[in-house]
Amino acid sequence: MPTIESVSVCIARVPLAKPVTFATREVKAREYCLVRVRSTDGQEGLGYCYAVNSAGRLLSVAVTDLLGPKLVGQESLRIEGLWSEMYQEALLMGRAGGVMRALSALDIALWDLNARSANLPLNQYLGAKTLERVPAYASGGYYLPGKTPDKLAREMAQHVSEGFRAVKMKVGLESVAGERKRIAAVREAIGPDVRLMLDANNAWRDLPTALEYMRCFEPYNPFWIEEPFSPDDLDNHARLARATPVTVATGEIEAGRWRFKDLITQGATTLLQTDATVCGGITEFRRIAAMADCHGLTVAPHAWHDVHVHLVASTPNATYVEWMPDDHIVNFRRVIDRQIEADKGDLLLPKRPGLGFRFDEAALHEYGVVYPGAKDRWQTVQ
Ligand SMILES: [Mg+2]
Repeated sequence: MPTIESVSVCIARVPLAKPVTFATREVKAREYCLVRVRSTDGQEGLGYCYAVNSAGRLLSVAVTDLLGPKLVGQESLRIEGLWSEMYQEALLMGRAGGVMRALSALDIALWDLNARSANLPLNQYLGAKTLERVPAYASGGYYLPGKTPDKLAREMAQHVSEGFRAVKMKVGLESVAGERKRIAAVREAIGPDVRLMLDANNAWRDLPTALEYMRCFEPYNPFWIEEPFSPDDLDNHARLARATPVTVATGEIEAGRWRFKDLITQGATTLLQTDATVCGGITEFRRIAAMADCHGLTVAPHAWHDVHVHLVASTPNATYVEWMPDDHIVNFRRVIDRQIEADKGDLLLPKRPGLGFRFDEAALHEYGVVYPGAKDRWQTVQ
């Protein structure tokens, strides 16, 4: 039985060549919290999560000081037990946010370690519903200086020409008139049959404003409106869900099954975007997806196709992987050694053991942060 020998963490800080904007934030660089869990039989499991612009160090300390010590010396197959013990450590320090992201990365690494030990791709280790490919939607449509509605429409149409039957664009930064031009150009370019998702990234503060935009969007038949309000504003999510025919989707920055229970029972959403790197790892993702299924709801996980491809392949009510076509905006691709392939709107399931990739050591040499007083990019608990 594999015993955990050490837990390591490295923060990679990957700059964006061109800063990018959406409704509520500008992004100049992205930090990623990368973890490795090594077992005494020589296997190594990998996990990761996003640490926004500059919060990597917070997550690194959560791994080295809070959660990692709970894992060393334990049997890696005891995932439910380890999850509970890590969660107990998180109780006072962060049942959501940074600590839960660190817990998520470690939980993913445990599943990866066990799948590699079993010599199975993670999707098969989890119990696959399909073995070859899963549906994806192409995600982008960010705001950039000089990006006209025509340029946005060409970007979306390019995804369709590559075989995607669903695409997503950002909304909520411009005036209603400006947004009307953007969505009209995109719908015209992609045609009536392609699903068009809209991501507002918490843009609106009140229902009247949200409705003003939604009344403008509705004639273009969007498939969902994502994160219309602050994630804590469940009341307005529920009001909007009652007031528009467009599906309200949310959940990408929520953690823990109890919060998702609130989202569902309060009518705040009918489509969950649970993110395994945020919500509490693969263990918690599966609990949340099962609960959603009991309410007749589906899950389309947020971003991070390298882990979610496995979860969509092994979760009965998961529908789409969110596919980032390149590394211009979401640049996690730069720190791993192998990329998932898209084919005619689907993603091909990795056939290698575990997640199917390793961290690229040369990239980590470039992007790995050495904090003052540290000797190395990797901090290890053993
Ligand atoms: Mg989003």
